[in-house]
Amino acid sequence: MTKILVAGGGGFIGGHLVKQLIGEGNQVISVDQKPLSDWYQVHSSAENLVGDLQNLDVCLSVSKGVEQIYNLAADMGGMGFIELHKAECMLSVLINTHLLVAARKNEVQKFFFSSSACVYEQSKQSTSEISGLKEEDAYPAMPEDGYGWEKLFSERMCRHFHEDFGISTRVARYHNVYGPNGTYMGGREKAPAALARKVANAVITGNREIEVWGDGEQTRSFTYITDCIQGTRKLMDSDFLSPLNIGSSEMVSINGLINILEEIAGIKIERKYNLDAPQGVRGRNSDNTLVNQVLNWEPSIGLKEGMSQTYRWVYDQLRVC
Ligand code: NAD
Repeated sequence: MTKILVAGGGGFIGGHLVKQLIGEGNQVISVDQKPLSDWYQVHSSAENLVGDLQNLDVCLSVSKGVEQIYNLAADMGGMGFIELHKAECMLSVLINTHLLVAARKNEVQKFFFSSSACVYEQSKQSTSEISGLKEEDAYPAMPEDGYGWEKLFSERMCRHFHEDFGISTRVARYHNVYGPNGTYMGGREKAPAALARKVANAVITGNREIEVWGDGEQTRSFTYITDCIQGTRKLMDSDFLSPLNIGSSEMVSINGLINILEEIAGIKIERKYNLDAPQGVRGRNSDNTLVNQVLNWEPSIGLKEGMSQTYRWVYDQLRVC
């Protein structure tokens, strides 16, 4: 049994990770700044604590006696959030910095940082038909402003805490993770959950018109949550120290994603395009050559299957509301 701290355990990925780690027989401490009533999942066999991890004293206290830390805590959201809250996104640097300082002080052996595809150089993502982003494409650096710079800086800090202080760090670059028990409304939701909500709402209300951000031809790849958790665990158990893509390579346009949702929901949607809405880069996909090589693994849940699960969960939430 390993004693593990999950920072951001009340969030989407953190909640799923806590479940996985408990299932593997570990002793888990889960920390989040939100009140427990707002956590997506509360697992009773974990020690669930509320605290602000931007604060060094909190980080020092919750990591005492811990062998591993997974840092999933960040002030983040979809494009609509990160384009308009750059300073708040950058303040997450305090979480990773103080967790690393605490890890050093408390002699934590392994440290995981959840980075993002938003670290990739923006000019390499200027067309919708792009080939996948390789890990080396993060440099020369020109990431997403605000959120992406924070992630790149924190990746770098993990590297130097390993080189200078011997902490064994792992860094995953997640590509758009989606699935049940995550944000689907309120302004921080990402495209899969937002579109699932809009389509479910169209089914429930009978109003078939939905707003689509941009012209719908921007492309992404979306990673189902169980793949994300599997990749995260494999990376943590590996000896690989450099940042690694954890992302699906099944690229789709936003219009293509809506087509899939139409099929799942069994309705035809009227799309109203808002060309002034935040859209992010024009095209993004994950190149999985390296992850295949070092972990002998890559995500396997197809978009149709993952979106069916996500749509059903979002639909149920809306029915309860
Ligand atoms: P999330 O917003 O659901 O979870 C993050 C959690 O961190 C939230 O519950 C939030 O309350 C908590 N948090 C924020 N500030 C905190 C603080 N000061 N102290 C304690 N807790 C704090 O997001 P998520 O989708 O679960 O993402 C988890 C991690 O993965 C984040 O670092 C995110 O940047 C990264 N990531 C996610 C995606 C994705 O598609 N979901 C993609 C790339 C990277």
